Amino acid sequence: MASDDRKFFGHPIGLSTLFFTEMWERFSYYGMRGFLILFMGAPLAAGGMGLDNVTATAIYGTYTAMVYLMSVPGGWLADRVFGQRKSVLYGGILIALGHFTLAVPAAASFYFGLIFIVLGTGLLKPNISVIVGQLYSAEDARRDSAFSIFYMGINLGGFLGPLVTGYLAQQESFRNLIVGWGLDPNSTWHFAFGAAGVGMTLGLIQYVLGAKKLGTAGMEAGGATTPALAAKYKKQATIWLGAALAVIVILAVAAMSGMLTITPTGVRDWTGYSLLVITVLFFATLFMDKSWTTAERARLVVIFVFFACASVFWSVFEQAGSTLNLFADRSTANTLLGFNFPSSWFQSLNSLFIVIFAPVLGWVWLKWGKRQPSAPTKFGAGLVGVGLGFMLLVIPAKVAATPGVLVSPMWLTGVYLIHTIAELLISPVGLSSMTRLAPRKIVGAMMGIWFLGASVGNFLAGRMAGLYESLPLETLFWRVSLLPIAAGAVMFVFSKRFTKMMGGAS
Ligand code: GLN
Repeated sequence: MASDDRKFFGHPIGLSTLFFTEMWERFSYYGMRGFLILFMGAPLAAGGMGLDNVTATAIYGTYTAMVYLMSVPGGWLADRVFGQRKSVLYGGILIALGHFTLAVPAAASFYFGLIFIVLGTGLLKPNISVIVGQLYSAEDARRDSAFSIFYMGINLGGFLGPLVTGYLAQQESFRNLIVGWGLDPNSTWHFAFGAAGVGMTLGLIQYVLGAKKLGTAGMEAGGATTPALAAKYKKQATIWLGAALAVIVILAVAAMSGMLTITPTGVRDWTGYSLLVITVLFFATLFMDKSWTTAERARLVVIFVFFACASVFWSVFEQAGSTLNLFADRSTANTLLGFNFPSSWFQSLNSLFIVIFAPVLGWVWLKWGKRQPSAPTKFGAGLVGVGLGFMLLVIPAKVAATPGVLVSPMWLTGVYLIHTIAELLISPVGLSSMTRLAPRKIVGAMMGIWFLGASVGNFLAGRMAGLYESLPLETLFWRVSLLPIAAGAVMFVFSKRFTKMMGGAS
């Protein structure tokens, strides 16, 4: 790839292909996620699944946790077997297939659709970012700015997705329109699932047509350096995939024959145990390695602390699609200047605010230069911020406890604004300092650790959202805010110490 290529905002033209592919993928992910919990909770008579809140949040939490967890094997497969380019293609196809499967109104298609999206996102999401990096040489100063542009693509998709799907799924005027076409008004949900599929398909077409702009980036499985290694990895992958498939088939047969009862809450619990085991095993193996120097060991402790912070952060932040979505749907007056909008449109606010504030924060860090707060302090502020965001909802939750009373949409807008600033203090800062902290031989695993943190966070978010109907909302909201605020306070107290342990990698 010609390093002097500057055709896309001063960047290699291949970045535009990746930008739009990821934009459409996030369009489909956030678009579908925006109304998923509402669809599961809606009564059968309204075209929904009629699930109770505990079941719906169990499915939601498991689904979102698995999406991020699958990034770990997805990254492995790309690096050692498929290469990133093919992985993104296969992933995109699976995702589109998943959304179209969800568009078919049947219970079985619902679960299969979710599984396809989980597998597809695992293949696409981590690997498309790796290709972004491969467009540049190691010393190219444009790398950081490339990722900022790419993050804009993510959030452009995250902004547009819920607007489109929310309109299709929930808006009265669309319902009337399809009644006019002679269709069942309750099928609006499935139009929305279909729209997510159309989005991903457009992304795929664009990816295939724009492939030549990427040159050779991501074409090879970089980890398979010799033909012998390539053969070994291929064999390992086949064994693992075969074993996974066998387990799935055995479970399906056992469930269908009545020998085993698979419930959403049971699957959720197993997901939780697995996440715990994976995390413990991972860090235990890391710390038991005797070859680390004292300095490296200190850095590993900080990596663990950042991982724990990220998990706590996402456990609160990722309740956007569940707890906050339910609050928007049930307790908020969704009108602006006389216009009634669908409750899931709130899901677009985070991305909108990212597009506005990411450049502002980037500018502030640049201006402060060396005087800017350390990474541990930024983490502390992000954690306290996400907690305070939830705390803000205690007041409207009290007001909305009176039946029939709806609160102003400004409350949730405020929460999403605070949460976005908090995200900007954690997400980009975390990923870049973790990569810099990692001793050389585990740099490749860092993306995996980061996604594992997101997975644990999404899982915990689902568990907390499961309390939506069993606790008074004001109690739920202040309790949710306690853990991140406490964790943030710990980060402030120890920030100097952690910064020292980072040994110049802050
Ligand atoms: N919103 C970002 C994205 O979708 C980050 C999400 C995360 O890491 N949990 O890419």
